[in-house]
Amino acid sequence: MKTRDRSARRHHAARRKARVERVLAHLLAGRQGRLRLCVKGVLADTPARCSCWMCANPRRIFGETTIQERRLFATTDDES
Ligand SMILES: [Zn+2]
Repeated sequence: MKTRDRSARRHHAARRKARVERVLAHLLAGRQGRLRLCVKGVLADTPARCSCWMCANPRRIFGETTIQERRLFATTDDES
C-alpha cells in the first residue's frame, strides 16, 4: 500500500479548497465579498453539510449504540 505523506495531504487539501473556491465563485457570481478561509476549509472537507437522519450519527437520531459498545456489553455479560 502506498502511504500518503504530509505533502500529499496538503496537495489534496489545496486542490479541494481551490475547487470550493471555483464552485462558490460560480454560484455567487460576483456577489460575494472575500470568502473566509475557514468556511472554505469546512466546505472542502464536508461537501454536503447536512444533518438529516440519513447523514447524521445514528446515536443522535435513534439512540443506537456503536458496534464496539455492543461487543463490550456482550463480553461483559458472559463474564458476570
Ligand atoms: Zn442528509
